[in-house]
Amino acid sequence: MNKTTLVTGGAGFIGSHLCDRLIKNGKKVICLDNLLTGSQKNVAQLLTNKNFFFIKQDVCEPFVSRKFAKIDEIYHLASPADPNVNSPVSYMTHPFETMRVNTEGTWNMCEIALKHKAKLLFASTSEIYGDPQISPQGEDYRGNVSTTGPRAVYDESKRFGETIVSAFVRNKNLNGRITRIFNTYGPKMNPNEGRAVVNFIKQAIKNESITIYGDGSQTRSFCYVDDEVEGLIMAMEKGKSGEVYNIGNDDERTILEFAKIIKKLAGSKSQIIFEPLPEDDPVQRKPDITKAKKTLGWYPKIALEKGLLRTIQYFRKIQ
Ligand code: UDP
Repeated sequence: MNKTTLVTGGAGFIGSHLCDRLIKNGKKVICLDNLLTGSQKNVAQLLTNKNFFFIKQDVCEPFVSRKFAKIDEIYHLASPADPNVNSPVSYMTHPFETMRVNTEGTWNMCEIALKHKAKLLFASTSEIYGDPQISPQGEDYRGNVSTTGPRAVYDESKRFGETIVSAFVRNKNLNGRITRIFNTYGPKMNPNEGRAVVNFIKQAIKNESITIYGDGSQTRSFCYVDDEVEGLIMAMEKGKSGEVYNIGNDDERTILEFAKIIKKLAGSKSQIIFEPLPEDDPVQRKPDITKAKKTLGWYPKIALEKGLLRTIQYFRKIQ
């Protein structure tokens, strides 16, 4: 019989790609999303599939459905994830929802996993490392995070979410693992999100100025969404309960370099301009993915240029 998989945040950017892949893999998928930052458009192609069930609901609310007697796996991805204060879909514009979904929502999902004897994967984030003082960041690094800064609603609630999952594993025998997702990009990213990839591509294809915050020397390591989704599935299937896995690409670039690559790939005439750096913007970010490589046999396969070309193509189509 098909395994039943619950994906919270299944109508979001990464969640919707995950739903696609799970359906292709023959799973029955329940997509739970309150559409605060996700969009039903992201899963439109699945709505007529007999193995796909969309439920518009907040993951903090009790999940009761007679239709699903047994849930086998839960991917808990639901959360606003965008740091841009000017974006309508940012965790800075939804601070309370963000704190609740990562704490109460995670607690709720742990209870449901226990009730169904399901495996749980909690999608945490590289943000739990804050503005890291070491590079690359391995899973053992404890981070450098402000408890009161503007990013804290996300960073600290994800950190506490990790604590909740770990306590359920340790004290209640939950079969749970944690993945820390690093910067991920690809088709279906929210066009209004204000993230670097989206802004740079939108600006480049319209030949508008490309806005670099700060001097562009800060680094990020960008992972194509198909690689990221494969990493999450491997962590669910091969990962051990109680373990934490960094899932990201370790191809580190400066933001300036990144903007120049997008400009070139889009054949753009944009000029590059510099604007003030947001508060608490991390200076560097690069995952150490040795653990995922060794224990899950996972590593990212899609080169930055290739992934960016696909993403540029997507944004040209939807403009
Ligand atoms: N950034 C930028 N211009 C933009 C949007 C973002 O220079 O138009 C910078 C941002 O300040 C950060 C980096 O690009 O240093 C990555 O930002 P993003 O929002 O994509 O992700 P995160 O900060 O969560 O890593």
